[in-house]
Amino acid sequence: MDMAMMYGQLGISEKVLNYAKEVEESLKERFAEIDATAEYNQIKVIKAMQDARVSDVHFAATTGYGYNDLGRDTLEEVYAKAFHGEDALVRPQLISGTHALTVAMSGNLRPGDEILSPVGKPYDTLEEVIGIRDSIGSLKEYGISYRQVDLLPDGSFDYENIKKAINEKTKLIEIQRSKGYDTRPTLSVSKIGELISFIKEIKPDVICMVDNCYGEFVETIEPTDVGADMIVGSLIKNPGGGLAPIGGYIVGRKDCIERAAYRLTAPGLGKEVGATLGVSQSLYQGLFLSPTVVAGAVKGAIFAANVYEKLGFAVVPNSTESRHDIIQAITFGTAEGVIKFCEGIQAAAPVDSYVVPEPWAMPGYDSDVIMAAGAFVQGSSIELSADAPIKPPYAVYFQGGLTWYHAKLGILMSLQKLLDAGLITL
Ligand SMILES: *Cc1c(COP(=O)(O)O)cnc(C)c1O
Repeated sequence: MDMAMMYGQLGISEKVLNYAKEVEESLKERFAEIDATAEYNQIKVIKAMQDARVSDVHFAATTGYGYNDLGRDTLEEVYAKAFHGEDALVRPQLISGTHALTVAMSGNLRPGDEILSPVGKPYDTLEEVIGIRDSIGSLKEYGISYRQVDLLPDGSFDYENIKKAINEKTKLIEIQRSKGYDTRPTLSVSKIGELISFIKEIKPDVICMVDNCYGEFVETIEPTDVGADMIVGSLIKNPGGGLAPIGGYIVGRKDCIERAAYRLTAPGLGKEVGATLGVSQSLYQGLFLSPTVVAGAVKGAIFAANVYEKLGFAVVPNSTESRHDIIQAITFGTAEGVIKFCEGIQAAAPVDSYVVPEPWAMPGYDSDVIMAAGAFVQGSSIELSADAPIKPPYAVYFQGGLTWYHAKLGILMSLQKLLDAGLITL
């Protein structure tokens, strides 16, 4: 059977295949750059594992208090080395990215301190953590205040107002690398470095924390290479490589990590406790695979941008922009377009491919939301997934793909669904 027949078995027509082939051929050089980044980061991870003398004894499960969990302690050493921090907290007990960010902030802030976000509104879930939206147990309830300086309309930093916003209370700077599900640009690591340098010149002892979600291994450097005191992320996104079944990480300055650890477990206990229950091997192996998994996801995002931009849809980032995270937004302008796209992503999944996603009134959203995912790990967004609020401008956000071929299939399938519904012509 030839390739077209293989795709044909899954319902992809030759029309879609030929259109996609043309697009893919135009991306050879960019894909080669992505492969070079993956190669660099692969070596970085292997070097960290070798220097930490990783061995199969580190994959053993611990239970109970988890004293002397060598696998856990060594994995934290590997993360610290790979991301060039002094220390790390990498735990299955950090149950998500939001939780890791909460632990990093609440461990390092005290009553009377102030948080500053110099890059606009933080990720949705952090609004209740910080107390931008009132919530039980928010940092606001503990007497911690918050300030925000928005990016300028062209996406650059508003240095003048950032300088004005820094005061004697400013203790922690929250810098979100990825645009997340917002419309602002994603920040490159070097841009983040410029911002940190500017802030440290005004107030050297402030803690610069970077929400690194979706950014890990997209570039050859991380925010810790350009002055960040802490970087924080989720293991069911990039650094878990699709294998980590749970977890979050914080890497950075030793004193910052210690305070975060005292908050995660208990004052006095810190990093000394926390059983790993047998997940360590997946966390090591996921980190090992992460550079190539991220490369596949970035290729998928760029491929989608090119496929849909050529058809006249607005895409963010656009077809030629350099990439600093794995998220791709495509504006379809109609509910039907968004729904067909998500149906395609779902139909391409290895898990739950027979399910048809439908918009529903998800708690916490002001419109119906449609989500497509057929993942091995629930909620994992390093796996191919898409979601969209059913409201203008009818944009879908999609990310992930554990392999480039799967990401490609998802996009081909979305094209096929749109074509069959008469929403595009090829
Ligand atoms: C996903 C994400 C988070 C939160 O992570 P969860 O694991 O979903 O709690 C925070 N910030 C950004 C930018 C993210 O993309």
